[in-house]
Amino acid sequence: MEYLPLAFKVEASNVLLVGAGPVAARKAILLKRAGAHLSVVAPTICPELQLLLTAADRYYDREVLPGDLEGKQLVVAATSDNGVHRWLAELAKQRNLPINVVDEPELCSFIFPAIVDRNPILIGISSSGQSPVLARLLRKRLEAWLPTNYGKLARFVGALRDRVKTVLKTETERRLYYETLVESEAAEAVLNGNLESAERFAHDLLSGSDQSRGDVALIGAGPGDPDLLTFKALRLLQRADVVLYDRLVSSEILDLARRDAQRIYVGKRRHQHALAQVDINKTLLDLAQQGQKVVRLKGGDPFIFGRGGEELELLADHGVPFQVVPGITSAAGAASYAGIPLTHRDYAQSVRFVPGYLKEDTPVMSLADCGTEDETLVVYMGLKALDSVVTRLIAAGRDPLTPIALVENATLPSQRVLVGNLTDIVEKASRSSWDGPTLILVGHVIKLHQKLSWFNQPKLQIIT
Ligand code: SAH
Repeated sequence: MEYLPLAFKVEASNVLLVGAGPVAARKAILLKRAGAHLSVVAPTICPELQLLLTAADRYYDREVLPGDLEGKQLVVAATSDNGVHRWLAELAKQRNLPINVVDEPELCSFIFPAIVDRNPILIGISSSGQSPVLARLLRKRLEAWLPTNYGKLARFVGALRDRVKTVLKTETERRLYYETLVESEAAEAVLNGNLESAERFAHDLLSGSDQSRGDVALIGAGPGDPDLLTFKALRLLQRADVVLYDRLVSSEILDLARRDAQRIYVGKRRHQHALAQVDINKTLLDLAQQGQKVVRLKGGDPFIFGRGGEELELLADHGVPFQVVPGITSAAGAASYAGIPLTHRDYAQSVRFVPGYLKEDTPVMSLADCGTEDETLVVYMGLKALDSVVTRLIAAGRDPLTPIALVENATLPSQRVLVGNLTDIVEKASRSSWDGPTLILVGHVIKLHQKLSWFNQPKLQIIT
């Protein structure tokens, strides 16, 4: 290890910043964020840096002098003059002053890491000056992974310290409490911005009245492409004890769950819905009541033809805590990846999502579901009833040449799009088998498909 990562307290301390261009301004942003008082020395100053300076800071419009180092705790040099840099590094060394020279690691006694700021939680990533680009890439990944409210969680835990000390006398008890707390519903509540519940959970846990309650997260897994998962879904998947999933959830998404989480397949076939759903509801309840953190993964969005509401009712009846995480519904996924905007000023002013089947497998699509010429219609669960969907649309007065598209396995590499019109789509579709989940889209927006699809989905397979 060439460097020792340390967190430096610079609040209200005097920092010398030599140079006042945009690079110096970037360092100044960090130093100001940490509360430093800056003395900036440079013949000219850029507007970004000028704007950052407050009454606590000083700007000297001249060349740097040895006296500038007096009374400083830190030196940062960001000029374009290597001679000045060497000279400053030498002066700083003589005075035992930590110095950073931008882009010249060999002159630095400390370097700035890439920072993930979830104040008071801070992560510094350093490549020891070898590859700042790599450090920044890592930062980007951590930024995406770490909830923005993580700092709030740290403050929440920090604020409990005195109370915990009074109740729990030994260091071990306190450590166990904190370990449980940061993975508990209290933490989840803080991250969701619900401080009142968080307080209650934290208090219950402290007073021993908590029976390590389980909870359920009903998560929309999106249409298939794992990149379309939300950050929240990912976080909850990574703390789950058990994951229930069905046919619509891709294996790549399932792989994102905590490695030792139990995975339960609750795939349902169309004709066994009624019974299976009751069993699923009961399983969710049982697992949560055993104290498990349960994730129920649903394809698309849980509240769009997902029966999510039904799964939650039983939990609500039994007072089991739950939350719902929205997902990208397959209509939105299919639309984007197939280049078919759901609304468009010229073609469709509104969009309607309708089911091809409802309870008891009865084909629906009432006349009212058929929409109008200036509307896009998306039929979920309609493939098996394609024939009657088309017949119904024509009976409702839709032009037989209205464009219609089938999108199978939307957003996955195996996505297929078939485009036709109301008179020829059934025959066209019968030429191949459709085994994956498929949506039916109807409306003039489909005319844009050829033009807009290549960008999003180069691997798209088009059957015409
Ligand atoms: N909650 C889901 C819908 C569940 S209903 C959502 O928001 O998307 C099941 C129907 O969704 C399937 O019959 C199919 O019509 C559609 N569907 C789900 N995933 C799909 C996908 N990747 N591609 C095409 N259609 C999909």
